[in-house]
Amino acid sequence: CGIIGAVGRGVETLDVLVHGLSKLEYRGYDSAGVALADESVDICKKAGEIDELRGALEGRSIDGSVGIGHTRWSTHGPPTDENAHPHQDCSSDVAVVHNGIIENYQELRDELAAAGHTFRSDTDTEVVPHLVEDALRGGADPEAAVRSAVGRLEGSYAVAVVIAGVDRIFAARNDSPLVLGIDDDAYYLASDVPAFRDHTDRVVYLDDGEFTVLGPDGWRVTTLAGEPVEKTVDTVDWDP
Ligand code: GLU
Repeated sequence: CGIIGAVGRGVETLDVLVHGLSKLEYRGYDSAGVALADESVDICKKAGEIDELRGALEGRSIDGSVGIGHTRWSTHGPPTDENAHPHQDCSSDVAVVHNGIIENYQELRDELAAAGHTFRSDTDTEVVPHLVEDALRGGADPEAAVRSAVGRLEGSYAVAVVIAGVDRIFAARNDSPLVLGIDDDAYYLASDVPAFRDHTDRVVYLDDGEFTVLGPDGWRVTTLAGEPVEKTVDTVDWDP
């Protein structure tokens, strides 16, 4: 039920993600997880409280300059470690977090299974990394692959994606909140401002149908089809 993402120079990505998830606890959740990407994607996810995730992270070297995290409020599949987000594709190169419900997931899942994809969870969400993988295999560049995957989804979503070897976060929303946090050389993404308010007070609220790319050098927002969208940067003047 909550998303956090972070990318930037000198950002302690894992700490920022876990701290952000703890700030989203008020939204309610039954599982939590993180994915960090550099040349590969490392994932750690657990059913239960964020302390369970913290415990699972102890003694693990999970690293990466770009990361996404999630607190889950189950709608499709019970709260288990496997059903916790992030979800991955077959090659484990793509990681996805999602809030909301993908209405046409069964149809997409049948199509992907027929094309040879193996599913590891019961969630509606897991179709997304497999769709991205398919588009990448078809020769799309990472951004185009995520756009085409999101374009297949019907329902409500705030979705964020990282890919091995790509120092960017791709994200989109429809009927589920998503807000960017803008710092001088770090960029955040979350379902609500408290998740990154300790790092910056400059925010950009995404609207339905928008797509964003955050990288170490900046951020941009377009429509899902790729048309640039002018966004205003607001300053939040309340304390977390
Ligand atoms: N529908 C997804 C699931 O059941 C996401 C739920 C959420 O918004 O946390 O895993």
